[in-house]
Amino acid sequence: MNPELPAGIEKNFPLARLTTVRTGGPADFFARPETQDHLVELLAWAKEFGTTVGVIGSGSNLLVADDGFRGLAMKLGGALTAVERDGSHLLCGGGARLPSAAGKTPTWGLSGLEFGINIPGTVGGAVRMNANAYGGQLAEVLEWVEVSTATGTERRTPDAFNFVYRNSNLTEGEIVSRASFALTPGDPEEIKATLASMRDRRRDAQPSGIKTFGSTFKNPDDPRAEGRSAGQLLEAAGCRGLEVGGARFSEKHANFVENMGEATTADVLALMAEGRRRVKEKFGVELEPEVQVLGDVAVPGWQS
Ligand SMILES: Cc1cc2nc3c(=O)[nH]c(=O)nc-3n(C[C@H](O)[C@H](O)[C@H](O)COP(=O)(O)OP(=O)(O)OC[C@H]3O[C@@H](n4cnc5c(N)ncnc54)[C@H](O)[C@@H]3O)c2cc1C
Repeated sequence: MNPELPAGIEKNFPLARLTTVRTGGPADFFARPETQDHLVELLAWAKEFGTTVGVIGSGSNLLVADDGFRGLAMKLGGALTAVERDGSHLLCGGGARLPSAAGKTPTWGLSGLEFGINIPGTVGGAVRMNANAYGGQLAEVLEWVEVSTATGTERRTPDAFNFVYRNSNLTEGEIVSRASFALTPGDPEEIKATLASMRDRRRDAQPSGIKTFGSTFKNPDDPRAEGRSAGQLLEAAGCRGLEVGGARFSEKHANFVENMGEATTADVLALMAEGRRRVKEKFGVELEPEVQVLGDVAVPGWQS
């Protein structure tokens, strides 16, 4: 390991507060690149010295190991969080928050990104996860994505990402630093009304104000589920409100794990394992985690 760290890298940086579930330990190294050039420099440094890299968006679908991350964790800042309009195109930094980007569209009379209002992640996290809500399709409005690696930044079209349900082919060290959405001119009042009704629907369906990473498991593609969602299976298997240590499956939405205050990542994993075990026992369905991990984290019984 190079003893001379590049400018801007901090050591032993706590990550729990950068995630919405607020668990997990520190990263050995941490940086907040604010430009594509700085990001590429950091990636090159990590590659040269054999350091693993991880990127955190809003941490809204992320579980960090209790003993932390032995590598360089990065959170995009500065210009990499910008949201700008260019005609009917929306140019966003990879670290721009999707709800803020969607929230700006009525003022500009641009339609197509309304579904992003309820996805509490960043543009980069949304591309990585192929995020979706209420039938909006990320790939339908995504025009291009700039991906930064240790060797530079290149522009890719959406078909290069092999999007499937909650996944893309982005690998470690490939960071979404910028993206463009091609939107359609629309009536600002109508766009505003759609955003408001989406927020209302969400408020009715999901708990708010809790520490969670949203859906814990993907909805299964298994005939034994008989079309039921992961949340419905967990509920039918008696998991609603189930607690392990400081973690519990939400009373309002059984597929949401909630940190009740002092949960550790180990508590969350033990709860997930128990949820999977119950659903497997009752329905024969193997639930697959949706939540992503940073550090040495494994859901007991799950082999990815
Ligand atoms: C209350 C709540 C509701 C939610 N509702 C939805 C929903 O309706 N639909 C939905 O799809 N998801 C939903 N989610 C999950 C989550 O918001 C999405 O998966 C989101 O896309 C994650 O983005 P993020 O920036 O928070 O990524 P993080 O959680 O920080 O990271 C997730 C993964 O993306 C990677 N990543 C992050 N940024 C980048 C980048 N710039 N380049 C490359 N990789 C990156 C990380 O390394 C990690 O592997 C919800 C979560 C919560 C807490």
